[in-house]
Amino acid sequence: MHELSYCISLVNMACENADTDKETITELVADVGVMTGVVPEYLIKYFPEAAKGTAAEGAVLTVNQVPVEGECLDCKKSYRPSAENGYSCPYCKSLKFDLKHGREFELINIKVKKRSREV
Ligand SMILES: [Zn+2]
Repeated sequence: MHELSYCISLVNMACENADTDKETITELVADVGVMTGVVPEYLIKYFPEAAKGTAAEGAVLTVNQVPVEGECLDCKKSYRPSAENGYSCPYCKSLKFDLKHGREFELINIKVKKRSREV
């Protein structure tokens, strides 16, 4: 169940980016590459547990799944390396590529609101 530990790191990243003494985190947006093996549905499922007792408790998590994208080192075109194309470039058949996307695991945005002061 490694999604829970990914959730905890998202919560930690969000709390580092907020003034948690005064603010409550209401929304988190994360980019998750398909090659991380992290299932977005599980992230969303385990998130409330990871956020419990933190400034992100009750926040809404949105996960953008990022597909694999490679850049051919020979013709510089972008394509999606996969088992179907044998990981080769569909334009020039080269097998040399740089992986540009698919491994990211990043918190890209948070929304916060000022905590209302208890009287
Ligand atoms: Zn190419």
